[in-house]
Amino acid sequence: MSTPVLHLDDPVKRQKVLELVRGLDLTADTQKKIRDVFESEMELGLAKNPPVASSLQMENTFLPELCDGSEEGDYLSLDLGGTNFRVIWLRIKSGAVVSEAVQYYQVPEDVRLGPGVKLFDFLAECIHNFMDGRQLKGQNLPLGFTFSFPMTQQGLDVGILVSWTKSFNCSGVVGEDAVKMLNDAIHRRGDTDVDVIAVLNDTTGTLVQGAFVDRKCAIGLILGTGSNACYIERADRIEKWEGEHKDVKEVVIDVEWGAFGDNGVLDFIKTEYDKEVDRNSLLVGSFTFEKHFGGKYLGEIVRCVLVRLTKEGLLFQSNASEELLQHGAFTTRFVSLIEEDNVNGVDVNTTGALNELKLAFNKEDIEIVKYICWLVSDRAAILVSICTASLLERMDRPETTVAIDGSLFKHHPRLKSFMEKYIAAMAPANKFQLMLAEDGSGKGAGLIAAIASRLKKQQAH
Ligand code: ADP
Ligand code: MG
Repeated sequence: MSTPVLHLDDPVKRQKVLELVRGLDLTADTQKKIRDVFESEMELGLAKNPPVASSLQMENTFLPELCDGSEEGDYLSLDLGGTNFRVIWLRIKSGAVVSEAVQYYQVPEDVRLGPGVKLFDFLAECIHNFMDGRQLKGQNLPLGFTFSFPMTQQGLDVGILVSWTKSFNCSGVVGEDAVKMLNDAIHRRGDTDVDVIAVLNDTTGTLVQGAFVDRKCAIGLILGTGSNACYIERADRIEKWEGEHKDVKEVVIDVEWGAFGDNGVLDFIKTEYDKEVDRNSLLVGSFTFEKHFGGKYLGEIVRCVLVRLTKEGLLFQSNASEELLQHGAFTTRFVSLIEEDNVNGVDVNTTGALNELKLAFNKEDIEIVKYICWLVSDRAAILVSICTASLLERMDRPETTVAIDGSLFKHHPRLKSFMEKYIAAMAPANKFQLMLAEDGSGKGAGLIAAIASRLKKQQAH
């Protein structure tokens, strides 16, 4: 497998195209610089009194262990903030999930934008409804709460909301503990015996879910709408960790790498296309790193390149369709489809996508579009691989499994193989494998509830 190649008969045109996308092709020097910056940002993020603020939150999840195979019993999880809101039930026996059920609920708009107390009452009602329909009533069940919003954790079961994002904006919750608000709502009802004992985000859930099936798992990655990672860090390297934790050797650290570069440290990799994607995004100047490759943005980056090349007279006979000029019109699904053509040496998906966008195109246009999708996908893999390789070397385990969740990773036909190639080259001494761990944000939360229950029992003894 080689690096992206553009096949065009006309050498002058070829040169012009390459010139306009040069910035997307990360040189070895640039890659090295990204890695250096990532490593210094990680250190700053773990420091107690950093001289300058890091763009990496390096959040302590307070999760000191993964599943050890002794977990047993019934657990619930609640997943809020991903694409779907749902309640999940897991029954674990002898280290395996023997039964499970999931139910999806719609959070009405007035609840998403109303007072926080109403939101948590609604969540408690869904839990009640879920248990009611499944003969779980009357049981005391521990619950793991996946709360995929920026939060500061102060314990495994304390998550302070920093800000609402996505389609949520409830009053009276920012600065409050989401776990306490949910527990209060459950207790207010008086008819549901559930204890929220852990709060997490999807990345931590993915790691736990991955480790449940593969004990070598020590990194969790999200490659979906956005991107993030967590890994197992030595407690003695977390300088900023205050309070009692003498007996804790390791803990899961949530890197929050989607925001890597928000302080300007990655400005040297930004192309005009990345800047345009940022300008047209919801939170301008935030989530710098993930805007370079997240599922929400990958297609949009390609679109920005195609529009520019069209304007320069290098594509579609200088005619961009109205469709192509629409933000978001070139989806990341198109990138996957066109990459499939690159894999199979055919054009069928590419012509399909271009037809959908009502573009008039010739053979050369197809070549260029296929090349751009390849180049942007390749850059995505390089960026994720740099940071993953860095985590692998940092943990320095003989063998590590990386659990990955998210539709981008799942559906892109060769992101995985690109990453395998790059990570192997970037962390040559550390054996690894990439594993799809679906639904970490759902199932993982139930597993964390099981771990938290076990830890509670151990502490009580
Ligand atoms: P979330 O990140 O919200 O939990 P997902 O993991 O399902 O949800 O990721 C959703 C993202 O996946 C969307 O931004 C979308 O662009 C991307 N996506 C959906 N289908 C595909 C596909 N076929 N190829 C690549 N990316 C896709
Ligand atoms: Mg998800």
